[in-house]
Amino acid sequence: MKQFSISLGKPFGIPINIHWTFWILIVWIIYTNASQGQGGAETLWYILFIFAIFACVILHELGHALAARRYGIQTRSITILPIGGVASLEKIPENPKQELVVAIAGPLVNIIIAAGLWVLLSIVGKLNLGLGHVQEMTHIHGGNFLITLLLVNIMLVLFNLIPAFPMDGGRVLRALLAMNMNRVKATEWAVNAGKFFAIVFVFLGFSSNPFLIFIALFIFLSAHAELEHVRSDSYLNNYHIKDALMKDFTLLNEKSPLSDAIKVLLNGQEKQFLVTNGSDITGYLTKNDIIKGLTTHNEQVPVGKIAKPQVIWAGADDEIKEVRMRMMREGIVIMPVGRKGQLEGIVDVDNINEFLLIQSAIHQR
Ligand SMILES: [Zn+2]
Repeated sequence: MKQFSISLGKPFGIPINIHWTFWILIVWIIYTNASQGQGGAETLWYILFIFAIFACVILHELGHALAARRYGIQTRSITILPIGGVASLEKIPENPKQELVVAIAGPLVNIIIAAGLWVLLSIVGKLNLGLGHVQEMTHIHGGNFLITLLLVNIMLVLFNLIPAFPMDGGRVLRALLAMNMNRVKATEWAVNAGKFFAIVFVFLGFSSNPFLIFIALFIFLSAHAELEHVRSDSYLNNYHIKDALMKDFTLLNEKSPLSDAIKVLLNGQEKQFLVTNGSDITGYLTKNDIIKGLTTHNEQVPVGKIAKPQVIWAGADDEIKEVRMRMMREGIVIMPVGRKGQLEGIVDVDNINEFLLIQSAIHQR
């Protein structure tokens, strides 16, 4: 399905992609318009309008991304989904003031767009904001295109400022609370506010728009995930790689046959291995790579042939939290620890998760 995703280039160095599910929305619009007997021109206006909305959504996400960049946080990508946009920031700033700025930057863009449209429409004398426009929203034409776009931008601001994760308003609320209490407590409050809104949405969903139930579920799950994430991060606070360093591990030589790797895999608890050429670390091999290697090659294939050539070193004094994030970002599961050429030990994803489990048990005492 990936081939149906479309790349819109890299403004400010940030790749923008349209997710393939977005096209379901377009097909659905064409289908409903056709089944209601609407003509081609009406459908075209409608599709144009959807693209205009999503252009505003992209600008909204760019607002977050560029605000984050001010604090040295990069954005991996911006993805457009049928339900909106997602900017994948490397991380969320932990400083509440910075988080507040990053969270508010998105809705601010929509306020600026709405203000711009307002000025434009009042110059051409077409600014008549009546409730009729809201009812007319399902019927877009040249005459109400811009005024409806203005209204949609205002709705985007209001919707995003609902104080519930994963909406921007949830982050704004957490940031404001975190200025006066610790981050975990602030997140708990913001998450509870989110769950409250989710319940309200469920009730509204049953009495009006069933789509709200879907949003409620989304809010509920995201709020919960955010709390788990912040909690686990706080358990790792002030711990360094040396606190979780593994010194007992197996290095696989890239020239040895795959059968050696299988033996090691079956013999012990290790699930991922560093690969060496005798003097340097040259890559790594996971349990899945070994199984996959067996299906495509035979047991005599050299380990180096199926190993992943990615090597990222961690320092013994690096924070566990940072290393965990680096692993997620790069999609790796094991790292050599030490200075290049001087291997002190390894750290892997299972090891960090075990450390996390122990810390969370200690915190629950
Ligand atoms: Zn946003």
